[in-house]
Amino acid sequence: MITNKAICVTGASGFIASYVIRELLDNGYTLRATVRGLTKGNNYEYLTSLPGAAERLELVQAELLTEGSYDEAIAGCEYVIHTASPYVLDVKDPQHDLVDPALKGTLNVLQACGKSGSVKKVVLTSSVAAVFDEPISGHVYTEKDWNETSSLTRNPYFYSKTLAERSAWDYIEKENPAFELAVVNPGVVIGPSLVPSLNTSNQILRDVLAGAYPMIMSISWGFVDVRDVAHAHILAMENEKAKGRYLCISETLDMSEVVSILREAGYSNYKLPKMKMTGMVGNAMVKILVSTQPKGVRTFIRTHVGRGVEYDNSKIRQELGISFRSVKESILEAVKDLFRWKHIS
Ligand code: NAP
Repeated sequence: MITNKAICVTGASGFIASYVIRELLDNGYTLRATVRGLTKGNNYEYLTSLPGAAERLELVQAELLTEGSYDEAIAGCEYVIHTASPYVLDVKDPQHDLVDPALKGTLNVLQACGKSGSVKKVVLTSSVAAVFDEPISGHVYTEKDWNETSSLTRNPYFYSKTLAERSAWDYIEKENPAFELAVVNPGVVIGPSLVPSLNTSNQILRDVLAGAYPMIMSISWGFVDVRDVAHAHILAMENEKAKGRYLCISETLDMSEVVSILREAGYSNYKLPKMKMTGMVGNAMVKILVSTQPKGVRTFIRTHVGRGVEYDNSKIRQELGISFRSVKESILEAVKDLFRWKHIS
């Protein structure tokens, strides 16, 4: 499906968006992609040097907090993939640094789509952060679950994603716009990066290797490869029947499994944690020991330690026909790439 109208991708400089852009260009689409550093003279060579970019990629300046900022980029587009949102766990001012850009930004983008008269569908990048805050062991999470416990003081990144996704669905219900909405809810996205900056989720792997965790905690992550997440967005865009939310997770691994994969792959000479802190006493000790971590990370660990996470990813596999890469391969490719970008020396 090639449209002669452009597709707008927001947050083009992001870990996920850069792969969305690469795949769309490979598939022959024409793109308008938004970044917020053009006026500062930032160099987006990792985007402009992609095959097809010279002919079919236009970068446009846009800022989530500025009303009307996306109007120009979205005007005349048929599809919009909205990925831009701050992805950081530790911030000084959660309202200003996380909630405002996520929430106001999503509404700005949807309003621009409404004004355009040309947009047929929006694909929004939400997160499992909008699905739950503190996982309940034994509960299998599906698209029906919503995070109802995060707040400005408790996992504020989770709160920002929940408010942003809720506001998007509310907009659709109240405004009944001419476009459809589909939402992708990825888990912990890992893999090689097209962009030089270290993504918050790849940082988990860097931290495990670099000795940031003094012990193996009983903590689980629902991982998914960044290239699969990008592909899921494009499938959700192209498939006319795709609607609602799509949990986008390949497999759940706990920290001891991640450490074993790295040890078996020959990374034992790095500062991998050895001692296991599990069981009730171990988990209680972890909660005390993480008190030196930044506040956002501390809250995340305290609300996740000792809890398994289970997901049902059948909707995305059946409706979008996606098959996921093995998480072990993604972890190993991500780690090689951390060395390539010198995020680990
Ligand atoms: P990322 O690499 O940090 O990308 C975030 C993007 O948002 C960047 O392009 C950033 O621009 C842009 N952005 C942030 N604040 C902005 C603002 N005020 N105005 C305009 N643009 C702004 O993170 P990512 O992992 O690709 O995340 C992309 C989306 O996926 C986010 O919505 C995130 O919540 C979601 N997600 C990520 C994961 C994950 O594990 N990585 C999991 C689930 C959901 P700059 O480059 O200029 O900062």
